[in-house]
Amino acid sequence: MEQTKILLDENEMPKKWYNILPDMPTPLAPPLNPANNEPLAPEDLAPLFPMELIKQEMSSEKYIDIPKEVLEIYKLWRPAPLFRAHRLEKMLDTPAKIYYKYEGVSPAGSHKPNTAVAQAYYNMKEGTERITTETGAGQWGSALSLSCNYFDIECKVYMVRSSFEQKPYRKSLINLWGATVVPSPSPDTEFGRHILEKYPDTAGSLGIAIGEAVEDAVKHDNTKYALGSVLNHVMLHQTVIGIEAQKQLDKVEEYPDIVIGCCGGGSNLAGISLPYMKDKIEGTHDPRIIAVEPSACPTLCDGKFQYDYGDMAKLTPLLKMYSLGYDFMPPAIHAGGLRYHGCSPIISQLTADKLMEATSYHQIEVFEAGVMFARSEGIPPAPESNHAIKCAIDEALKCKQTGEEKTILFCLSGHGHFDMYSYDKYFSGGLSNE
Ligand SMILES: *Cc1c(COP(=O)(O)O)cnc(C)c1O
Repeated sequence: MEQTKILLDENEMPKKWYNILPDMPTPLAPPLNPANNEPLAPEDLAPLFPMELIKQEMSSEKYIDIPKEVLEIYKLWRPAPLFRAHRLEKMLDTPAKIYYKYEGVSPAGSHKPNTAVAQAYYNMKEGTERITTETGAGQWGSALSLSCNYFDIECKVYMVRSSFEQKPYRKSLINLWGATVVPSPSPDTEFGRHILEKYPDTAGSLGIAIGEAVEDAVKHDNTKYALGSVLNHVMLHQTVIGIEAQKQLDKVEEYPDIVIGCCGGGSNLAGISLPYMKDKIEGTHDPRIIAVEPSACPTLCDGKFQYDYGDMAKLTPLLKMYSLGYDFMPPAIHAGGLRYHGCSPIISQLTADKLMEATSYHQIEVFEAGVMFARSEGIPPAPESNHAIKCAIDEALKCKQTGEEKTILFCLSGHGHFDMYSYDKYFSGGLSNE
């Protein structure tokens, strides 16, 4: 029997993150100040982020050292395992080889702590006492709560109201690690009060919650803001995923023909794929790299590549990205982490340059793929990750038709232990595609 689980030793863990900015064939368009539409100066971001993260956001260094304190915490769950999906391959009767990198082994159950720990660390170094953030499904809120706890930083999470009510256990997890969490819109900010007055029954949205978290950070001197996806420094921190995966596939002498990630703000996709994108840009290999979106929020597939705000309050800088519009209200699909109107500028530019492909699937076929995965491999996947699984299955089935023995790699960005409500709905026929 061929190897199933490919592991790395602790001492083989990457010591540096890979920064793709200096390797981008088309340099990124600069972020603009929302007050005057001029390119942002680093100082403009200082009320929100510590200087070290602002530097990383604009860095031209190809590799950036992972601080020792961050590595020590990464070691609690990293290196993350890479699996060969023998049982799924058998179920599909495909000649393709399917590998998945499993990020659900982190304490919060997803890839998000890879950046949350780093962000909390740099904030601690620069004396931040309190961090605010938003969370949709609760994955990011729990990852940041976990990370602030390691560095004794207070943390306040504005959680989209519909999730706050539907996902009580993500909320409990945020509390367990010591953060405070309120449903957004909340009476705690001016923007929240304004929305509550106008739409008392609103289910909330990420755009509203970001507006609240940013306002809170700007109004308190000891407080900064943290974002769990989209920004360049977040993509940077997530590259530990792909660097590890490359080392693991090297051990079994494989190189992927196809690299797949689900895509909300783009961070787990960036994590698994940017180290491979480097090879593609340099011309040493030519893997296909695929972003998978929900059909209900198809940012890369249907959005416009344009400058747009990150939030509904129009407080964030304007970023050039694929976007469905800052006031887009996605339907309440069950992959909450993929319901964002915009996407990472790095992923957007690579897509515009045709180095990355994008595709989308409807909710029901995506859950069907997740169930197939759980019934072959065992792990119950997060609804977000089911999008990547669906695409990997489709590609493997194409290989069955053509007889090609392709190597497929995808990122299993998290487990679905807190998403059983959604699986129950799927089984009872209560899910719709819109
Ligand atoms: C947040 C989340 C996503 C989507 O965010 P990206 O930044 O696009 O990776 C995907 N999967 C899981 C498990 C998540 O928690």
